[in-house]
Amino acid sequence: MNAESSAAANAKYAWRDLVLKGLPKRSPQERVSDFLEIYGLYTEEMAREQASRCIQCPNPSCVIGCPLCNPIPEWMRLTAEGRFLEAAAVLGSASSMADICARLCPQERLCEETCILSAISEPVSIRAIEQFLMEYSAVHGHADTATAPPNGLKVAVVGSGPAGLACADELAKRGYSITIFDSSLVPGGLLVDGMPTFKVDQSIVERRIEILKARGVKFKLGVTLGTDMSLADLRHDFDAVFLGMGGVASALIGRSFVSPRPVDPGPLQTIPEIGPRVHHGARTLAAPKAAAPAPLPPVKRLAAARPVRDGAAAMATASTAASLFADAARARHDGDLRRAVSLFSALRSTFPDSDQARVSSISLGDLLLRLGEPARALRAFDAYLSDVRTGPLREEALFGRARCLRELGDSAAEAETWARLVRDFPGSAYGPAARKRLDELRSAR
Ligand SMILES: Cc1cc2nc3c(=O)[nH]c(=O)nc-3n(C[C@H](O)[C@H](O)[C@H](O)COP(=O)(O)OP(=O)(O)OC[C@H]3O[C@@H](n4cnc5c(N)ncnc54)[C@H](O)[C@@H]3O)c2cc1C
Ligand code: SF4
Repeated sequence: MNAESSAAANAKYAWRDLVLKGLPKRSPQERVSDFLEIYGLYTEEMAREQASRCIQCPNPSCVIGCPLCNPIPEWMRLTAEGRFLEAAAVLGSASSMADICARLCPQERLCEETCILSAISEPVSIRAIEQFLMEYSAVHGHADTATAPPNGLKVAVVGSGPAGLACADELAKRGYSITIFDSSLVPGGLLVDGMPTFKVDQSIVERRIEILKARGVKFKLGVTLGTDMSLADLRHDFDAVFLGMGGVASALIGRSFVSPRPVDPGPLQTIPEIGPRVHHGARTLAAPKAAAPAPLPPVKRLAAARPVRDGAAAMATASTAASLFADAARARHDGDLRRAVSLFSALRSTFPDSDQARVSSISLGDLLLRLGEPARALRAFDAYLSDVRTGPLREEALFGRARCLRELGDSAAEAETWARLVRDFPGSAYGPAARKRLDELRSAR
């Protein structure tokens, strides 16, 4: 810290002189070529300077805005003083997953929105400092894995998503013996199954799980409640059971007990993994062990598809589709046509409603034609033509379609397609070739 900013750090009104600095953000050009996290970290100097903007309110409204009532001013003061490990310890005492919350919490609608400075200036950058502290303590400190002496009570936690992990962590700290069960082979729930790695890298979740293991938490993975064990089994073997099988699934499970009709997962079916899980979960609790529900579909690594219109999932979906598209385009540019085909196909099946998926149909058709697969290419061009009713790319799709039909020897459909191209796009650059081919086809009849 230089002398000027050091002086500012000690001043009560530092916020007047120090502007809010956001986290360094990687450029879209860089981000589109990988799946790494979007934001970088504050340096030590930036963290101290930005923390010194906090005016240490006597009744801090940021704490009220935080669902965990995190004692934010306390760790802001320690950070401004450069006491990073102490600050991280205070932060960690209030939040079981501060490193994950720093990446996923909507702070701009919680603590940062309620920060008193929001009303007169820019809020304290709580999220950025939280992330800095957790990464600093991961590198320079020792993970807090302390627990109270064992109290002799055993708890089964079903589900290793954030709900299950947080519950397990809090109880393990208090001396309970915890076993987490999950049907997935990889713990973390949607943090690893649904969330793209550019929001939270998987290594961050793994790091958190290692801390739980060091606290003595046991993981039994690939074990499904309702198939491999019943709730009665767990109640028999444990003093308490916590069900953390997915937020909405749990709500629907509750409704399924009071509703005589089948429970409709509704909008959740927009996320391929969740719809079946909800059905699965809704049948699970009442099911005796013998009546095994259908197996879960394989979990997808990528973020969810289909029309999720707003919120975090929509953002994640759009960004993942963009990265996948860039990956496919790169493979095509590098001449790796098979890989390009498989990436464009994955994009179309995983994100069918994205703009990239529509454009992919044309690229896919071209590539398949080059690879000598006109029947598959035709399906790709037709998919575009039925998805997009207007616009210049239809010209490309019609041209591709006609070439496929020529390869397939379907001269009637080919002639009809050339004629459509000439009619719909009178000034088309393909016009002369289309008319010439139409003449050939007519004279061959
Ligand atoms: C693309 C995407 C982006 C998101 N972005 C954000 C964000 O930025 N911020 C945010 O706060 N939230 C975000 N979310 C939402 C967040 O992921 C969820 O709210 C959170 O994961 C719910 O946690 P959970 O522990 O309740 O359930 P889950 O994470 O769904 O975990 C449930 C676990 O239970 C297991 N399970 C289910 N049934 C059984 C059974 N019968 N037996 C054994 N195990 C079972 C599952 O395998 C799973 O591991 C996002 C979600 C998605 C999909
Ligand atoms: S409301 Fe803002 S300024 Fe006040 S204590 Fe909280 S973070 Fe600091």
